[in-house]
Amino acid sequence: MKYWRKPLDIERVKIPRGRIHILKERCKGCGFCVEYCPCHVLEMSEEFNAKGYHPPRVKDEDACANCGLCEMLCPEFAIYLDGKEEVPVP
Ligand code: SF4
Ligand code: SF4
Repeated sequence: MKYWRKPLDIERVKIPRGRIHILKERCKGCGFCVEYCPCHVLEMSEEFNAKGYHPPRVKDEDACANCGLCEMLCPEFAIYLDGKEEVPVP
């Protein structure tokens, strides 16, 4: 993100980043996680799991804001986040 001016708290504020884990075999391919991720981190993959569904895959992990929405929405508890990393504002 490019700022048109430098925020006064730029040294203090950090951007949260999440690390996503997908349990492919639990997925039922509903696509909720892909559709509702506000940062477009996920996409459906071409591969099949044992149930015959396409699980999602991580497209751009660095874009994940660790909001936890995918974890909350997944009806099969097939996604979880661990560790909350914080990076400086670029
Ligand atoms: S935690 Fe939020 S930003 Fe990260 S993948 Fe899930 S929905 Fe997207
Ligand atoms: S929300 Fe859960 S079940 Fe649905 S596609 Fe994503 S990982 Fe699979």
